[in-house]
Order: sequence, then structure tokens, then C-alpha cells
Amino acid sequence: MKTIQTVSDLEAFISEKKNSNLVIGFVPTMGALHQGHGSLVERARLECDVVVVSIFVNPTQFNNSADFEKYPITVEKDLTYLASLQVDAVFLPNVKEVYPDTFQMPAYEIGNLDTLMEGKHRPGHFKGVVQVVYRLFDLVKPNKAYFGLKDFQQVAVIKNMTTYFNLPIEIIPCTTIREKDGLAMSSRNLRLSEGQRFEALFIYQTLNLAKALTEKLSPIALKKQLEELYAASSLRLEYVEIIDPLTFEVLTDKWVKGAVACIVAYVGEIRLIDNMVLID
Ligand code: AMP
Repeated sequence: MKTIQTVSDLEAFISEKKNSNLVIGFVPTMGALHQGHGSLVERARLECDVVVVSIFVNPTQFNNSADFEKYPITVEKDLTYLASLQVDAVFLPNVKEVYPDTFQMPAYEIGNLDTLMEGKHRPGHFKGVVQVVYRLFDLVKPNKAYFGLKDFQQVAVIKNMTTYFNLPIEIIPCTTIREKDGLAMSSRNLRLSEGQRFEALFIYQTLNLAKALTEKLSPIALKKQLEELYAASSLRLEYVEIIDPLTFEVLTDKWVKGAVACIVAYVGEIRLIDNMVLID
């Protein structure tokens, strides 16, 4: 496995693979890797000739500086893990490599997705995500790129951006990997104390409950019920939305196939995100 830190070394690696017409699969990450990331890498390994993973904690997508400063970093462990998954190259750039003074993101409007859920509650977040993914796509030139559905809205934002710029990249959404007890794997889970780790399970439990209640309650009544449950819990709910998976319209009276419940809640100061398809 090659560890690449500079854009010029990455360009040399990629152009050699492109000249041989190899299919490049790309998994962008912020490190502190777990089996959720691993599942994306494994899928890329199955579907592509060359697998490139990036580890870059992108400062422009953090709207909360404490969250950025406390973001877990476990590079040595990450590299060992990626080598065990037969990754071909890991791109580990510094901020200057990703954003040299000459870099300019072409004009792009995220649109409606920037006004709801993650867009609404994390101003500037998706702008940063689009910027880094655009830049990394330009450098890695993948044929396929893998993203986790745990960040359900992010997948839609990236798909839209790829379509808008006509990039020849297939965006592949991958299912959420959970701990044995159901907690969605997340790098931020590393920051949870033992007690908080137990409290965090509430999110998965309420998503399951939501799924069980779809036959009895309308989407809007279900949302209200969930809000009440969180109000009585030790978690601080940032939002719960029940949405149409294609349009992201908030559902009120009627259920649609694929309806998704999206939840963000804080355990202490740690922000956790999860979602579940309620109507299969
Ligand atoms: P991050 O390092 O948090 O930026 O995540 C990198 C990629 O891994 C993103 O596409 C995430 O959606 C995905 N990911 C994170 N957690 C999980 C998980 N538990 N299951 C599947 N994919 C995940």
C-alpha cells in the first residue's frame, strides 16, 4: 500500500493507472476508521481494479470549531487497517495540498438541500463537503466513489454536484454498519464515555420504534411522538425529520415507499447522526 502525501505524487500514481485503463474506486474519509469505512473499502475492492482512500479532516466542513479540534485522529491504526483491506493507495494530504492558493471552487449552488436538516443546522457544512469532494474527485479521477448512507443527505448533495458538473463518476451509496447492539458506527463514538455509549443507543431504539409505529401513526404524529420521547430522555434532540427519500420533502399525512426518519441528537457535547428507512 502506497502512502501519498502530495498532490504531485498522487497525480503520478493516478496517471499511471489511468494509462493502463484501470477502474479506480475512491473512498473519501476523515480517518479514525471503523468497520463502517471498512465496508466501503471492501465494496470498492470487489468492484474496482485500484482502491484509493483519502484521510483528510477537512476544516471547511466544520461549522463548530470545538468539533474540529476534538475530531479523533488515529493515523497509524488507520494505515494498518487499510493495508489489511488491500488498499492500493492512501492519500494523506495537509491543508495546503488540498487548498493551495491557486485552488478555486467553481460556482455551485447546493439549493434546497442546504436549507433543511444538516444544511439548516450546520450552516456552511455542505459547502465545505462539496468543496473537498470536488477537489478530491479532480485529483483522484475515480470511476466509482463510495459514500455511506449514514450521511443520507450528504449522498444526495454529492450526487447532485456530480451530475451538475457532469463528472464521469458513479456515486455508490453503501448501507450503514452498526455495532452489535445497533449503534451506528461513527468516528465520534470514540469520544463517548462508557455511560454515554449506553445513552447513545437510544437513537437506534427510537428509530426502531418509529419503524414499528408507521402502521398506527401518520408521519407528523410520529415525529411529535419522537420529539416527546427525546424531551424525556438524557439526549438533546437537534432534529427529527421524516422525509421522502427522493425529494427530501417532509412527510405529514401520507407515507411513501422508502420514507426515511433522520435523527440528530447530542449525547453530552457529542453530535450523533443516524437514520432508518421506515417503509421498505
Ligand atoms: P467520515 O470519515 O465520517 O467522513 O466518513 C467517511 C465515509 O464513511 C462517509 O461516506 C460516511 O458516510 C461513511 N460512513 C461513516 N460511518 C459509516 C457507517 N457506520 N456505515 C457505513 N458508512 C459509514
